[in-house]
Amino acid sequence: MTGRKKRISVLGSTGSIGRQALDIVAAHPERLQVVGLAAGRNWEALLEQCRRFRPEVAAVATTADAARLKAELGRKTEVVWGKEGLKAVAAWPAADTALVAVSGTVGLEPVLAAVAAGKDIALANKETLVAGGSLVTEAVRLAGVRLLPVDSEHSAIWQCLEGRRRDDIARVILTASGGPFRTLPQKELARVRAAQALRHPTWRMGPKITVDSATLMNKGLEVIEAHWLFEMGYDAIEVVVHPQSIVHGLVALADGTLIACLSATDMRLPIQHALSHPERWHAPVPAVDLASLQELTFEMPDRERFPSLDLAYAAGRTGGTAPAVLNAANEEAVQAFLHDVLDLPGIPKVVASVLDEHDVVAQPDLEAVLAADAWARRRAAEIIKEVVKS
Ligand code: NDP
Ligand code: MG
Repeated sequence: MTGRKKRISVLGSTGSIGRQALDIVAAHPERLQVVGLAAGRNWEALLEQCRRFRPEVAAVATTADAARLKAELGRKTEVVWGKEGLKAVAAWPAADTALVAVSGTVGLEPVLAAVAAGKDIALANKETLVAGGSLVTEAVRLAGVRLLPVDSEHSAIWQCLEGRRRDDIARVILTASGGPFRTLPQKELARVRAAQALRHPTWRMGPKITVDSATLMNKGLEVIEAHWLFEMGYDAIEVVVHPQSIVHGLVALADGTLIACLSATDMRLPIQHALSHPERWHAPVPAVDLASLQELTFEMPDRERFPSLDLAYAAGRTGGTAPAVLNAANEEAVQAFLHDVLDLPGIPKVVASVLDEHDVVAQPDLEAVLAADAWARRRAAEIIKEVVKS
């Protein structure tokens, strides 16, 4: 290793991806350094992280928690809060890369702030690209920074695409585990509870993405994410269910050859790859042992039992503010499901109703994206109330 350490700020450091990102920093102290950390409400976990990683700046969601954190940390770390705090950590002068792992569209403005400040973005927060894909990719292009995927499927596809000529690429293929209800009959889907949906067969993740995995909306969001990351049309993005989660993504070449990327089912690998690229470092993760794999299976997703996938394709093809509306309505419906207010099949129903009512803005600026997001949340909340009453 030559040169200085890569300095990173981690947004969402107390979450599933954030904690794993800090594991990677701890595994490579000679290569990586944390200069900023941002969390939401879990200020106590953030305090521990600050003591361990000694960032220059730390952000929490509320001013009350900021005061608590400040009282513990003293002058060693600057403490900021709220939306402006998140943006400040993202764009922190000492940072080279902002690793954005907050959950939901709250990540959009910090990403834009980091890009404007010339930071590379290691992006876990897919909702940001879904809601603001054209804004983010245009800003990235203008600033000449790098947008590095952390989502495992996109990291895999990125690795399969590397060094290839654009004309040689026919399609990209995202794998999906199928979630905990892959084989559950339609009529039983209405009876599943949040606790069951949160038991994912192959990945341990935050609650929102885990529910999205159970409805296949996660894969739908990833299709839109792939569209922006790889500049692929929707006809050239496919989804295949692969319950073992060992093949993370594939690229189909013009001659029909498939290039696949296999690795352990461990998010620390794609996180590390985004931070080490173009280098490869030893990873604190066991390599795939081919002989011990019983089988690798592939099947088509069931689009009838899991209509969220096609809702996402449709919103992606419509473009403009449609994906922002899809995403925001889904975020609200997922929260309602987690609070036992809505059943699982209710999630795509709410999303479809909100999308149906939406007047799409074809080429939205940030204000239009945020307005569409806010409108979709309000409308979803109203529809959820009506559904619950009936
Ligand atoms: P978690 O729910 O585990 O963590 C979310 C993080 O975001 C927490 O640190 C939380 O802080 C913080 N946060 C939430 N809301 C706010 C807010 N308003 N202001 C500041 N911080 C906030 O989520 P995951 O780590 O599972 O997922 C993060 C993102 O990465 C999502 O977009 C997800 O789709 C994506 N992703 C996750 C994968 C995974 O394996 N987990 C895989 C691929 C993508 P606090 O807890 O302190 O409130
Ligand atoms: Mg993924």
